Amino acid sequence: MIPAEIISKKREGQQLDKIDIKNFIHGYLLGDVTRAQMSAFLMAVYFNGMKLEETLSLLEIMVNSGSKLNFEHSKNYVADKHSTGGIGDKISLILAPLMVACGIKMPMIAGRSLGFTGGTIDKLEAIPGINTSPSLNTFRGWINKVGAGIISQSKEICPADHKIYALRNETGTIPSLPLICSSILSKKIAEGIHGIVLDIKIGTGTFMKTKKDAYELGQLMKQVGLTYGIKVDIVYTNMNQPLGRFAGIACEVDETIECLKGNGPDDLMQITYEIGSKLLIQANLAIDKNSAINKLKKLIESKIALKSFELIIRNQNGNLDDLHINLNPKYEKFLVAEKSGFFHFVDTEKLGWALVELGCGYRTPSDSIDYSSGIEFIKKTGEKVKTNEPVMRIFNSNPKRIESAFKMLKRTFQIKKSPSKIKLFL
Ligand code: URA
Repeated sequence: MIPAEIISKKREGQQLDKIDIKNFIHGYLLGDVTRAQMSAFLMAVYFNGMKLEETLSLLEIMVNSGSKLNFEHSKNYVADKHSTGGIGDKISLILAPLMVACGIKMPMIAGRSLGFTGGTIDKLEAIPGINTSPSLNTFRGWINKVGAGIISQSKEICPADHKIYALRNETGTIPSLPLICSSILSKKIAEGIHGIVLDIKIGTGTFMKTKKDAYELGQLMKQVGLTYGIKVDIVYTNMNQPLGRFAGIACEVDETIECLKGNGPDDLMQITYEIGSKLLIQANLAIDKNSAINKLKKLIESKIALKSFELIIRNQNGNLDDLHINLNPKYEKFLVAEKSGFFHFVDTEKLGWALVELGCGYRTPSDSIDYSSGIEFIKKTGEKVKTNEPVMRIFNSNPKRIESAFKMLKRTFQIKKSPSKIKLFL
């Protein structure tokens, strides 16, 4: 294999053979294909896309780059959910305990912060002691014992996605349909699940800015899921503003706990219930959406879901009693409304980059996460605001970075004369 030849073919928009893709990906894992070469390849895919056959080949090679779980003989339905990336999206953390409480097993392989979007693994690691990189055997044991586990890709599980995901983050090559599809579904197929609900986000705060791109990605993922015999349901949700009242690291775990105590914000809970009801119907554990949602609400009211969350975290060695350590940022600042009117988010991607600046993501691969960092959304789109009233509280433990994030955030919202409505499902 000559790596430059494969890159050139993709650069010219030609279709690659499976063997080319295989050699290239394996070469990268073995160190024979350099980071520069893989970066060029990813950029060529970003610009020229891939045909369905190429995407299927890439996916298969990524799945087979590591070990897989197998739940063929499981008595329980085994499932997962995954989002294409958003801001303030802590639904995986709320959903896993709810599903476990219903008897669905959830072996979740999640990712770190990607571009301007948050990562479940980074948020989870705000819980002192938590283990997010167990061996495959340990992970399998967790699923059998407590019903769920949330881990990162690793050298053993989805190593190709593990390595390529980080490089896409460095090289601005995230928003590509075949790359997103193969990244997400390679993890899910390796989990050995029976079904999945994909939350495809649309709007300024995610990678798919238009309905057209989002629907195309949805079709592609559905087609690929079917090829592997996995039931796929899709929800298309609005990401023109952050989800919930907090985005960041430890603060999102804290908000998760509030949701499980029954104090969750409406938008977050509605999407959680929508996804959860689809999984219950897939698993034949509910006959329709209403009965599924009632079931989920009861699990929250009775605190059964909260107990299930505590069990999942404890099982991964996480100590929730010590979460407060990361809920004590050294610095905080408030953004205020310069006039009265109605609050409106205008640029949620920029808000995501401000979160990265605060310490919630990776500006460079060697960046470390500031677990105390985040934003509280005191106002959200459509809400009334008075002059000088605070609209956002930002916090972290780095004085320089809080100042630059503060400047960035000034351009992320407007105060309008009349309230705008946000439709949650698109
Ligand atoms: N989530 C993933 O796991 N991969 C992507 O490429 C985007 C979101």
